[in-house]
Amino acid sequence: IKDHLKHHQTQTTCWDHPRMAELYQSLADLNNVRFSAYRTAMKLRRLQKALCLDLLSMQAACELFEQQALKQNEQLLDVPQLLSCLSGLYQRLEQSHAHLVNVPLCVDMCLNWLLNVYDTGRSGKIRTLSFKTGIVSLCKAHLEDKYRFLFRQVASATGFCDQRRLGLLLHDSIQIPRQLGEVASFGGSNIEPSVRSCFQFANNKPELDAAMFLDWMRLEPQSMVWLPVLHRVAAAETAKHQAKCNICKECPIIGFRYRSLKHFNYDICQSCFFSGRVAKGHKMQYPMVEYCTPTTSGEDVRDFAKVLKNKFRTKRYFAKHPRMGYLPVQTILEGDNMET
Ligand SMILES: [Zn+2]
Repeated sequence: IKDHLKHHQTQTTCWDHPRMAELYQSLADLNNVRFSAYRTAMKLRRLQKALCLDLLSMQAACELFEQQALKQNEQLLDVPQLLSCLSGLYQRLEQSHAHLVNVPLCVDMCLNWLLNVYDTGRSGKIRTLSFKTGIVSLCKAHLEDKYRFLFRQVASATGFCDQRRLGLLLHDSIQIPRQLGEVASFGGSNIEPSVRSCFQFANNKPELDAAMFLDWMRLEPQSMVWLPVLHRVAAAETAKHQAKCNICKECPIIGFRYRSLKHFNYDICQSCFFSGRVAKGHKMQYPMVEYCTPTTSGEDVRDFAKVLKNKFRTKRYFAKHPRMGYLPVQTILEGDNMET
């Protein structure tokens, strides 16, 4: 903690806690994941666990914000204030998870991460909204509860958001993949195209309510897709599927399962899919469906019907009708379009 204070008073350059530097280095092995949304989400999952934020419930996070009187979202928090908030947060977690939480280490690492994400100019201050966005994005909660929480932070007293307010939300959210060097895949750091996409979806009304925002988020817009994927990565960790990988023959499949919607009984495991391997006769353009939990009989029936439909469709048909895994956001490209 003293180091942080010292470094923030005397240095403008980036400084990482040794354990944080170690963590960032360890993320490099995920760079062989070919698809950026998965790659980013898997990095965030490791970060989330290292910071013990996977233990923090939404309720505990909200109670903490209240306790620390974090009401004015535009207000700046300096390093001593951040330390006080984080100490409160981790002391609370220590009460329920004593053997998992090392309070001083977690406080230091989490502060380090927040400053890396939200204080790139190293002023030693971040906005209250940024603090909440960072903590809530990585906490343990239902995805849609996170969306609702984030919306509430920027909405007016009557519960509406104009373009400027939505811009604040998207800006602070996008800093999270940006810090991992992944922002180009999510439409770049310019949030204007995402704001436009959302308001177009809401029929160009001047303001939108939480329900509209949630409907748009359910389409998984390119700029935000890393967050739902993070949730699926977490769900897939413990998933066991009664299926065999057609490439490496793993059975049962652990993690994500990818089922072909072109061929019957054609499944691929997570590591084969992420490395971009395909079996003979199966083309990359062929549609697949991702499962992070074992399939229900309803899903089996639905997929069976889809395979029947696709059985006689050609490779050219699928190349002409590509299915995006997310809602593309029109943008003057800073990077390549994300792989589907
Ligand atoms: Zn495999």
